[in-house]
Amino acid sequence: MPVKKQHPSIADSILPMRPKKNIALIAHDHRKLDLLDWAEYNKEKLSRHNLFGTGTTGALAAERLGQPVFTFKSGPLGGDLQIGSAIIDNEIDIMIFFWDPLQAQPHDVDVKALLRISVVYNIPIASNRSSADFLISSPLMETPYERFIVDYSRRFKKEIE
Ligand code: PGA
Repeated sequence: MPVKKQHPSIADSILPMRPKKNIALIAHDHRKLDLLDWAEYNKEKLSRHNLFGTGTTGALAAERLGQPVFTFKSGPLGGDLQIGSAIIDNEIDIMIFFWDPLQAQPHDVDVKALLRISVVYNIPIASNRSSADFLISSPLMETPYERFIVDYSRRFKKEIE
């Protein structure tokens, strides 16, 4: 099936992604081993990109990969929100976020905000291992990419008297 090209309207925009991507790594405690195992398996591919992470996940990933990982605060202390802010500022291109499907988190509202903002800014996200495998294996990981940004402001034009 032919791929349909997106035609941005005047207010929509394109954010160019470089071949070297900024990748955020986040995992809740019961998913950390899974994420670290995945990262180690893909160590060579990850070494071609810049890595970021929430406090604990980032520190563990740096140790396991022997590669610098820029760490934000720990998730429950605001790290998820910092990563969300970095996405808004176009400093994160891709997010690998293994969240726990079986346990509520003290910072669940932050997790929801982060997942929401990653959709608003149309960044690729993976929340389980098979999605992360497909993502990291994509040829787009090594090439420039034009990320389409919808102008949502059209949806909430407010009339204030
Ligand atoms: P952590 O945070 O990497 O500091 O454990 C992850 C999270 O709970 O969002």
